Amino acid sequence: MGKFNAALMLPNPMTPNKAIVFNESKCTGCNKCIDVCRADVLHPNPEKGKPPIVLYPDECWFAGCCVGACPIEGACIMTAPLQQSVAWKRKDTGEFFRLGMKNPPPANTKPPVV
Ligand code: SF4
Ligand code: SF4
Repeated sequence: MGKFNAALMLPNPMTPNKAIVFNESKCTGCNKCIDVCRADVLHPNPEKGKPPIVLYPDECWFAGCCVGACPIEGACIMTAPLQQSVAWKRKDTGEFFRLGMKNPPPANTKPPVV
């Protein structure tokens, strides 16, 4: 095949958010996560036993099917975009919090105002 006839598959540019990351020390490269991904975000690694390649991160729907299908906990990690993380603001101080942040405030134990 000539130099300019080769078909290449290259990842599209990553958004600031990494949709899916793999823990190389846990992943066995079984590709079950690829089988369930309806958006074809993931691609098999040409190296057997290695984690899949996140080929089209911008196409991810963030439904987490890949995480659910993975037989090894912590091998496939999905991070929802910041805009989709639940957020709340303390009325009296204006402090802003997001779900999953470090040192979140204690839970609100006050009954809801009706
Ligand atoms: S969250 Fe859904 S769309 Fe995104 S990589 Fe996993 S299975 Fe594919
Ligand atoms: S992340 Fe899980 S499901 Fe995907 S290839 Fe690795 S071990 Fe298999």
